[in-house]
Amino acid sequence: MKDNRRNFLKQTLSLSVGAALIPILNPLDTFASGPASAVDGQAPFTFTQIQLPYAYSALEPHIDAQTMEIHYSKHHAAYIKNVNDAIKAENLSFKNEADFFANASRLSAKARNNGGGAWNHNFFWESLQAAGAGNNQPEGKIKTALEKSFGSFDQFKEQFSAAALSRFGSGWVWLINDKGTLKIGSTANQDNPLFDNAELKGTPILALDVWEHAYYLKYQNKRNDYIAAWWNVVNWKQAAKRFS
Ligand code: MN
Repeated sequence: MKDNRRNFLKQTLSLSVGAALIPILNPLDTFASGPASAVDGQAPFTFTQIQLPYAYSALEPHIDAQTMEIHYSKHHAAYIKNVNDAIKAENLSFKNEADFFANASRLSAKARNNGGGAWNHNFFWESLQAAGAGNNQPEGKIKTALEKSFGSFDQFKEQFSAAALSRFGSGWVWLINDKGTLKIGSTANQDNPLFDNAELKGTPILALDVWEHAYYLKYQNKRNDYIAAWWNVVNWKQAAKRFS
């Protein structure tokens, strides 16, 4: 436990330092490669890995600490590094993440896939809260909207779980806001509903990672059990904030 915490701190500290260096280094690169890669003289947008808002073990027993540690410090960290490498190598100069994803169809596979992975996981970590933190049910405006779209909270859960179970291969399941209406859909690989060429488009409210790396250590082939456990750690306050 102590070791985990120390590793976690070390990890986030080194990531913060890495992220902090990017804006310092980029203007120099921009200067060297000419003004075409800068937006109004600003350093181009790069992705930053958020600090996990809870300990690796906080989602136990629903999502285990080892899965969280590998997922955050290996998989997610690699998406962040790889997309920022691509931004630099390809001289990409987007203003922000919305601008980046609005151009997804024109990006290289490396920039697109890792950019999606970088953003989706930040969004995923913030969609979750420590086990036993309470508020396991939506309240207020989002509750009303869920009932309007799906009949009831239970029916929403059923449909969302079914979408998560039937996503073939790797991908994500989303609850999105499509102009005031809540909808469920899924995307393949690391695509997300902000991509200009996504099958599903809208403002993300909740996301569930159904890549095997998200659950295989604890649940193996039983994706169904992972999905059922996931509902226990959904952060409905965060979802409501995104819907407001
Ligand atoms: Mn993942």
